[in-house]
Amino acid sequence: MAKMTLMPPKPGVCQECAVDHHPALPHNKDSLYYQYYFHGKHGRWPTWKDALAHCNEEVQKKWENVLKEKGVDIE
Ligand SMILES: [Zn+2]
Repeated sequence: MAKMTLMPPKPGVCQECAVDHHPALPHNKDSLYYQYYFHGKHGRWPTWKDALAHCNEEVQKKWENVLKEKGVDIE
């Protein structure tokens, strides 16, 4: 199977998920770029926990609560 090659994200957006978000906030787990980037690096698809991994505890808790309220699986 051919290895998927990703075009680098345009400058000024997050270089991991190609979305314009604050560095302290989670990556967009639903970004196709992020999914392929993460899969290329870790050999599995990302979860919200992965998208939140670089955030501080407060941000993680807040997002986990919001996602849980929406009934979204975070792991
Ligand atoms: Zn990001």
